[in-house]
Amino acid sequence: MHSDEYLTFIHKNKVCTYIMPNPSILVNTKGDYIGTDTNVFYPIRTLIFPNVPYTDTKYKPAYLTWYESKKRSSPKLIVPITNVFEHLYQIPPLDGTELPLSEVSKKDSIWDAQRHRTEQVGDIYGYEPEFERYHERMTDCSTFLAYGFNDDGLKLKNANFCRVRHCPVCQWRRSLLWKSNMYVAYEEIKDKYPKGRWLFLTLTIKNPPIGDLRETLKHMNKAWDRLVKRKAFYSVVDGWIRTTEVTRPKQKKKKKSDPDVICPIFGNTHAHPHFHVMLFVKPSYFSTGYMSQQKWSELWCDVLRVDYQPIVDIRSIRAKKGETKEDAIKNAVMETLKYSVKPDDMVGDGSKKANEWFYELTRQTFKLRFVASGGVLKNALKRDDDITNDDLVNTGKDEEESETDDRRLVFTYAKIKHRYLYNPKYNQ
Ligand SMILES: [Zn+2]
Repeated sequence: MHSDEYLTFIHKNKVCTYIMPNPSILVNTKGDYIGTDTNVFYPIRTLIFPNVPYTDTKYKPAYLTWYESKKRSSPKLIVPITNVFEHLYQIPPLDGTELPLSEVSKKDSIWDAQRHRTEQVGDIYGYEPEFERYHERMTDCSTFLAYGFNDDGLKLKNANFCRVRHCPVCQWRRSLLWKSNMYVAYEEIKDKYPKGRWLFLTLTIKNPPIGDLRETLKHMNKAWDRLVKRKAFYSVVDGWIRTTEVTRPKQKKKKKSDPDVICPIFGNTHAHPHFHVMLFVKPSYFSTGYMSQQKWSELWCDVLRVDYQPIVDIRSIRAKKGETKEDAIKNAVMETLKYSVKPDDMVGDGSKKANEWFYELTRQTFKLRFVASGGVLKNALKRDDDITNDDLVNTGKDEEESETDDRRLVFTYAKIKHRYLYNPKYNQ
C-alpha cells in the first residue's frame, strides 16, 4: 500500500510501514544524506531505514543511532539494508518511479552525455540513406547497462555496443580501454628502463579538401614510416604510440585562451588531419640526440616530401605545479588517446553542409587504422579489430579490483529524457 504519508512494503517477510517525511531525500551508499532532487520521486532513505523515525539532522545517518540503541533490547530486529544498491535490488521502486543512474552513481553520470552524443551523431547518419545501417546500429547502442554492485558502488558488467567507428559512446569506451592498456605498458617500461623520458609530438600537414582526406592520411602514414627509419629518430626513440585525429579546420585565434571556433570558410570543405605521438626516448636524447622544434619540423617536412614547413610541436612531458610525473604522463596518454574525431566536430554547426562533411569523412576514413605503435610499445594497445564487446565493458584493470556477485541492476537509456533510468524488470 502506498499513500502520500505512509509507505508499506515487505522486507524479509515482515511488513514494514514507514511515515514518509520527505519523499525526495537522497542518501549515499553509507546512508548519509546527500541532498534532495525534485526529479527523483523515489524515497530511498525511507525505504532503507524502515521504522526509523526521521530526524532533521542533515548529515547524521539517523538509522544507525536508532538501530544501535534498539538492537540491545530487541536482538531480532531486522538489520537495515545500508547499501543503496542492495536496497534497489531487493525492493524495487514503485512502477512509474524514475530513478536516474546519475543520481545513484556519480562516476556513471558521464553516461548520459556520452549517450546523448551517440544519439545526435546517429541522427545525422539517419538523414542519409547510405548510412541508414549505422543509424540503426547506433540507435541500439548501449541502450542497457547491467551493473554488479558492492559496498564500493556499481561495476559495469554488461552492455550492448554498436561498434560503429564514429559512435561517440564506442569511441569513448575504446579510448578508456587504450588508456588502461597504456598505463599497464607504462608501469612495465618504468621498471625496465627507469631512465627513459617521454616526449609529446604533434605532426600536421596542410589542410586537404575533405575529398582528399584518405589520400592525405595514406601519405602521412608513409611519411611516418620513413621517419621511424631515420637515424635521428631511431637512435634516440625506444618506443612510440601514434594516433590520428581529424578535426574541422578552426578559425585562427587571436589569443591562446580563445575558444575553438570552426572556420566559416573551410570548416565544411576541408579537414585538419594530424598525428599525436608519445615518444619514449633514451636519456641521451637530452644530451647528444637532442632535436629542437625547428629540427623536428625540418625532418617531418623532409619525410613528408612537401615544399613548405609543416607545423610541428614537440615538448617533453614534465609535471606541472602540484602534479606528479606520473600524473603528467597519464594526462599526456589521455590527450593522445582521447578521440579520432571529436563528437563536436562530427556535428559541426548542424547545417546540411556540415552533415555532408561528416558523411564524406566517414567514407574517406573507412577501415583506416587510426592507432599505431612501435618499439618497446609495439604491442601496448589492443588492435582495433581485436576489441570485443567485453573489452568495451571492462575497460580498466581497476574495474576488477572489488568483486561483485552475479546479481545485476539494469539501467536503460530513456531517449526522450536523455538519461539512463533504473529498470528493475531487466534485473538478473
Ligand atoms: Zn556505439
